[in-house]
Amino acid sequence: MGKIKRIGVMTSGGDSPGMNAAIRSVVRACAYYRAECIGIYRGYQGLIEGDFVSLTARSVNNIINKGGTILKSARSDEFRTKEGRKKAHENLVEHELHALVVIGGDGSFTGGVIFNKEFKFPIIGIPGTIDNDIFGTSHTLGYDTALNTAVEAIDKIRDTASSHNRLFFVEVMGRDAGFIALNAGVGAGAEEILIPEEDLGLKRMLESLKKSRRAGKSSSIVVVAEGDKSGKNVYELAQYVEENLPEYEVRVSVLGHMQRGGAPSCFDRVLASRLGVKAVELLLDNETNLMVGLKNNEVITTSLEEAIKGGHAINMELLRVSDIMTT
Ligand code: ATP
Repeated sequence: MGKIKRIGVMTSGGDSPGMNAAIRSVVRACAYYRAECIGIYRGYQGLIEGDFVSLTARSVNNIINKGGTILKSARSDEFRTKEGRKKAHENLVEHELHALVVIGGDGSFTGGVIFNKEFKFPIIGIPGTIDNDIFGTSHTLGYDTALNTAVEAIDKIRDTASSHNRLFFVEVMGRDAGFIALNAGVGAGAEEILIPEEDLGLKRMLESLKKSRRAGKSSSIVVVAEGDKSGKNVYELAQYVEENLPEYEVRVSVLGHMQRGGAPSCFDRVLASRLGVKAVELLLDNETNLMVGLKNNEVITTSLEEAIKGGHAINMELLRVSDIMTT
């Protein structure tokens, strides 16, 4: 072990299920390697305000199964300023912290990269966001749980859709990325899936719905990502279909923040445990500016710069499968 003896851990940006499991893993790995672990409340804002707590292996009992984050999360405009980052650095020096584990999304990593450039402060990132939109990992923490939550909700909507012969538009999270929509759509057997990455055209959707009516289907589900490219929000889409296909009785359901909450899936808990251990081990080996992630079920590292810049291609084969399934 080198000069790293006190490691800070924080959760930043949007919360996601599995963040607590990752905090637990970082804390326990620190205890295992006899490093001190300091929790930082409310992400970069807590760093600026010196809102710190000492964490021991016992501080993180019974949190592996909890959604949200015990350290709270925040978005900090102050950290976007040089002055704010200077205050954050002063607090780190004052509390004799030697390195940071940042659990968050690409915004949090961007802040981390800038901070590292300015102060040469060692940082490792753990990808925590339900959107799965980070390059360098096949899965971000919380994505698997969010998918399962969305599928469960759509299953319930299907019950009422089929009882009343209705068409439901279900909006799921994903402003820039269609991972949840595409996978939950296939998993829940949706008729159509609208995602930000691909404009499939409204005509195609109408054709597909007509086709399914002709094929004898009396109810349908269309899954729409928040940021889909149709140019219409989910309510306008529903209205558009009602105007063009009056035979359909259309309803809208927006799943919203429920997709962020709840107990993490086993997959997310295991992923969080693996990534937390690796993050601490990297810091103790004097590595910095890396993100830990998963590829082919192996824990890998990617530079934070690359993780921020790199695109994460959606699996278009899934759209094809979805098409075939609606035959
Ligand atoms: P999610 O994907 O869930 O939205 P995120 O980590 O991308 O998570 P952001 O709100 O984009 O969430 O970023 C979290 C915080 O990171 C910001 O509130 C800000 O404090 C910091 N941050 C983001 N971008 C920058 C930047 N360019 N410079 C400095 N700090 C930044």
